[in-house]
Amino acid sequence: MSQLKAITCKAAIFRDANQPLSIESVIIDVPLADHVRIKMISAGICASDGHIKWGHMKTSNLPMVLGHEGLALVESVGPEVKQLQAGDLVLTNIMSQCDQCKDCQDRSSNFCEKDGFQIRNASTNKKLEDGTGVWGFCRLGVFSEYVLLKQSQVVKIDPRLNKENCCIISCAVMTGFFSATNLAKVSPNSTACVIGLGAIGLNAVFGCKFNGAQNIIAIDINNSKKAIALEFGATEFVNPQELDRPVEQYLKEKYGGVHYAIECIGNQGVMESAFKALKPTGTLALVGVGGKTLNFPAIEMLTGRTVAGGFLGKKRSDEGFNQLGEMYLNGQYNIDRLVTHRFSLEQINDAFQLLKEGKCIRSIIVF
Ligand SMILES: [Zn+2]
Ligand SMILES: [Zn+2]
Repeated sequence: MSQLKAITCKAAIFRDANQPLSIESVIIDVPLADHVRIKMISAGICASDGHIKWGHMKTSNLPMVLGHEGLALVESVGPEVKQLQAGDLVLTNIMSQCDQCKDCQDRSSNFCEKDGFQIRNASTNKKLEDGTGVWGFCRLGVFSEYVLLKQSQVVKIDPRLNKENCCIISCAVMTGFFSATNLAKVSPNSTACVIGLGAIGLNAVFGCKFNGAQNIIAIDINNSKKAIALEFGATEFVNPQELDRPVEQYLKEKYGGVHYAIECIGNQGVMESAFKALKPTGTLALVGVGGKTLNFPAIEMLTGRTVAGGFLGKKRSDEGFNQLGEMYLNGQYNIDRLVTHRFSLEQINDAFQLLKEGKCIRSIIVF
């Protein structure tokens, strides 16, 4: 154990929203205390990484490595790590939990008052060769061949999930599926709409179907998403730009409104329109990252409308990742269908461009 050494490897470095990511050498230290060092197998490109890359979300923690959706093998562990060992297969976890605090003890949510969720207050877990600290997005930064993390930032999964596509379980699948099943709590025979059919939205559509919704309206301005939305369980595809009236009015007229609206874009106007589409006791689940102050008439909340939020569908990663992994292994969940493109780390800028143009469902980096 004592022969462990720092590792020099390649990572994609973000310095400025107007510059491509650059592939550079970084140094990954030996894991101390409760830390683990992981060797990445694959990592998904999520719109949240894009928000930083394209300058929609500002950060002063530079240079930074983006990436939070990852599949990896544990390479080595610190002396206090008891639950993990070298060779274990893990998914990276944006909602790390200390398992000691009040929030963690109350298993109804995935929020930890100690570890919390931090996008901008990211840790420096890598160094450039000149010694400059490199920040990790969501305290992770998985667009790097190796990553040093706290043990709570990874979740051990079934070794049979050692398939490159499975990296997307850690954000897209987890967030989408549990936003429908756990955050919105879609009920059987209900009417639900999902707005924004990226990888997260399509998984939300599948979650609505899994929970037995009767009408599932998939909404996107990109008609190329129609076929896959229907495949994942949508009963109708609507392009709001092709309607002659606002989409909320259309939903009211056709269905009397929706019991559940799941917003996967992060746009203030879309969130407010989704609220207007709700039945008097409907639930709006906010999943997309972004938006500013929302305006809802208080009187309309009094009939029983609910607005719900929570990262990763408010589901604990240890439970959620393993449930989804099992569904994949049983052939219940077609995760492979969602990975449309594969790139090497050197091609990462092309992967972001494809996402920006809406031409992929999920692209992954294969290390
Ligand atoms: Zn994500
Ligand atoms: Zn905690």
